Amino acid sequence: MIIVLKPQQNQEQIDSFVQKLTSRYDVTVNTWVGTHSTVLGLLGDTTAIDDEYIAAQDVVEAVRRVQEPYKKANRKFHPEDSVITLPGGQTIGGGRLALIAGPCSVESEEQICGVAEAVKESGAAFLRGGAFKPRTSPYAFQGMKSEGLELLSKAKKKTGLPIVTEIMSIEHLPLFDDVDVIQVGARNMQNFELLKRLGRLDKPILLKRGLANTVEELLMSAEYIMAEGNQQVILCERGIRTYETMTRNTLDISAVPVIKRLSHLPVIVDPSHASGVSWLIEPLAIAAAAIGADGLIIEVHNDPPHALCDGAQSITPAQFDSLAKRVTQVYDMVQAL
Ligand code: PEP
Ligand code: MN
Repeated sequence: MIIVLKPQQNQEQIDSFVQKLTSRYDVTVNTWVGTHSTVLGLLGDTTAIDDEYIAAQDVVEAVRRVQEPYKKANRKFHPEDSVITLPGGQTIGGGRLALIAGPCSVESEEQICGVAEAVKESGAAFLRGGAFKPRTSPYAFQGMKSEGLELLSKAKKKTGLPIVTEIMSIEHLPLFDDVDVIQVGARNMQNFELLKRLGRLDKPILLKRGLANTVEELLMSAEYIMAEGNQQVILCERGIRTYETMTRNTLDISAVPVIKRLSHLPVIVDPSHASGVSWLIEPLAIAAAAIGADGLIIEVHNDPPHALCDGAQSITPAQFDSLAKRVTQVYDMVQAL
């Protein structure tokens, strides 16, 4: 971190500020005295330093961070890719494209078990399905809640597929014992109390990027989970809100290599929420596989026109079957280049 001091600070003021910094933070301070101003270079762990606090000090003209504000998620301190491995042996990261598939919402036993069996047959390694649904309208279907979680457990028992499902409130955590990967949805990406609580679990967390959040903010949210001890975080690019209206969101495909450059955590892509339309799922999924995403999370419904949630962006099991083959081929081909 570089701090430029206001001109005309006397030595006593500079010394007292440096003293304040070294007593407060675990850093060493180098001082360069120029003709017009003095510049301080802070070396050490600057993650705990609040830029705004520094900027608010009387002697400070400007502050510039030269190191990222996240540490545990940072590739600089963990050069190898992280691989998330489930007790059943399923992995996310590490050179295989992980396919997570299932309906937007759990609707009935037949529906979730039928879709689970079909997507497993097509190569999915994980079953997704929402039990608690974050809906824009309070009058829209809110999910089957605890009953939905029970049905996911039944589907898991039948197929062996681990469950990926969203948590919306800390209060619901006791219901999530049988859930293998807990999803934090886009709307909760900065629910810091929830992130901290999930950070104390020994269970993978799938963290989706918020609708209007930067990559750095996503990494800072991952840091919240990791700082509490849980290093099993999977990041998900699911489209961000832009001025474009042709698609539900805009898939920020460049976020995948950008995040991978900055972080060792696995990155997956959700083409369903990014596009909002079923015909766009396959091309976006192919793009994600080609660019090196570690996995895909895709909404698959047995009867999209009658889906209780997100039918327009849901693909059928038959469409998923063809997509799964193509994306896996693309992924393997690009990795082998
Ligand atoms: C979902 O995956 O069901 C979902 C609601 O996604 P997002 O949080 O990305 O909107
Ligand atoms: Mn959905």
